Amino acid sequence: MEPDRRAFAEAARGFMPPDEGLALNRAACGLGVDGPLLEVGSYCGKSSVYLGDAAQSQGRLLFALDHHRGSEENQPGWEWHEPDLVDPEVGLIDTLPHFRRTVNRAGLEPWVVAVVGDSVTIARNWSTPLAFLFIDGGHGPEPAHADYENWVPHVAIGGRLAIHDVFPDPADGGRPPYEIYCRAMDSGAFTELAATGSLRILTRHAPGI
Ligand code: SAH
Ligand code: MG
Repeated sequence: MEPDRRAFAEAARGFMPPDEGLALNRAACGLGVDGPLLEVGSYCGKSSVYLGDAAQSQGRLLFALDHHRGSEENQPGWEWHEPDLVDPEVGLIDTLPHFRRTVNRAGLEPWVVAVVGDSVTIARNWSTPLAFLFIDGGHGPEPAHADYENWVPHVAIGGRLAIHDVFPDPADGGRPPYEIYCRAMDSGAFTELAATGSLRILTRHAPGI
């Protein structure tokens, strides 16, 4: 990653520590199978810069999916709520303007395509095999497992699956991302390629979930 963009990504608003962002970028570079990249959970676009940079370097597209209304844990009264992200007219979180600004300022608009809507609804209407899937959407039990079940079948053989906020020790954070990581490992369809902080990168070598 070129130093200016790396500095930009590190300063961008969001939930991705610098070492994990760089590891995500590295894992998404030099992909061995055809297809676009897709992330579930873009928020204000921080991870989209790390992944968009990797997409650009390979002449691929990143589909950056989010309904931009925030996860349960981003709502008022929850730990990860940021009040200035609420659209006062609508009374709901709206991270889409922030996301668009981030992608524009990073110079990544040609390679990063926003997909705005509910993750499972879109997954059920998706048909393009993915070279890279990053799961960082809703972290509750229901949304995390639904993302796993509906998106992981779209990862091509030879493609990669990245999961964020994997905390084997419950003292460090919520369990559902760890549970879906375990599902992938137990499926026999994936092997682990790398681990950095709470980021896990897996490679698909067989079909199935
Ligand atoms: N990757 C981001 C952080 C993502 S936070 C970063 O680098 O900063 C999780 C995001 O998932 C939130 O923006 C939320 O709106 C989105 N999300 C949660 N559930 C979703 C769903 N069912 N469909 C689409 N997006 C969802
Ligand atoms: Mg995360």
